Amino acid sequence: MIFCLTAYYAAVQSFDGRRPRWWQALPAVSVLGVIAWFSMVTESFAVRLVYCAVIWGGLMVATIHSLCRGATAKMPASRRILIGIFAVVLIYHLVRVIIYLRADLDDAFAIESGDHWLNVVSPIFMTLLAIVGTTAFLLMCSDHLRQQLEVAASTDYLTGLVNRRTLALRGATRFEAAQDRGQAFAVAVLDLDNFKSINDTYGHDVGDLVLIDIANCLKLNAGPESVVARAGGEEFTVLLRDRDIASAAAATERLRQAVEQTEFHMGMTTIPVTLSAGVAVYRAGDRKFEDVLRRADQALYRAKAGGRNRVEVARLAAVPA
Ligand code: GH3
Ligand code: MG
Ligand code: MG
Repeated sequence: MIFCLTAYYAAVQSFDGRRPRWWQALPAVSVLGVIAWFSMVTESFAVRLVYCAVIWGGLMVATIHSLCRGATAKMPASRRILIGIFAVVLIYHLVRVIIYLRADLDDAFAIESGDHWLNVVSPIFMTLLAIVGTTAFLLMCSDHLRQQLEVAASTDYLTGLVNRRTLALRGATRFEAAQDRGQAFAVAVLDLDNFKSINDTYGHDVGDLVLIDIANCLKLNAGPESVVARAGGEEFTVLLRDRDIASAAAATERLRQAVEQTEFHMGMTTIPVTLSAGVAVYRAGDRKFEDVLRRADQALYRAKAGGRNRVEVARLAAVPA
């Protein structure tokens, strides 16, 4: 049981990304020695009991501590259940030791015999940890896997920004808030200028690094209220909290300038990077998020046609798709 608890503690540590140490097995090994000595050389049930109890309890406290330490703000139910089971078994364990000690048992007393009612109850109680506890641990693993899948499905693997799928969801939510509650809502579509030539000149790997740097630059400069997404390739979409086109255009212009002024280094060379952008704000009559997005896209098209490295605002009448 003590070796199992040692393995349990190591499993919980590994689960949270901490590396178990080899010396964590030493307490369990020492228990073997103590049991052997105090059974065969100097027989003493009390010493065996107390020594095992300290190691056993210590391992359970360490596991509970590890489970609490690795918990995020929103602790999943499976982790709470596991902490609860460990706490219950720990309390049972302490009560059991006190009852044994107060029973003033013979030195030759063995817990595997049927001489005391606790000897019968304990194995039944301990299966709680083995069966229910292991089930809770497996649930924790599946929760962890689900969280990882959710992150993978909602973010862009290269830049860590929100991906196109999440952009559509967040865009729709903000659009509805604008439509129903009159919240400010604007969309900026940003496309890097002549990015193909950066790939052609410096290689695709450098292109990737530039995309990562730009994503960070946009996130840093967009403000906490904005959502910055990688819509695909070298195109980014920013959901803004601006009501009028002038302030949305000013916010986007700040992003354009931030990228223009950022120095992207490749060895001794500095790679110049600029972007073009189109901006549109929500207006009454828009039926869905894509209506605003389409106007911003059309404005981007004009920014490209007008010479790049500039911000264009959407015209009042959108060209139907
Ligand atoms: P424009 O100013 O008209 O937007 O020119 P552009 O070269 O940026 O546009 P174009 O659509 O011709 O090329 C986009 C390039 O972006 C081509 C593609 O290889 C590159 N690209 C798209 N996704 C990635 C990526 O994940 N990594 C890298 N390194 N390049 C990418
Ligand atoms: Mg481009
Ligand atoms: Mg493009």
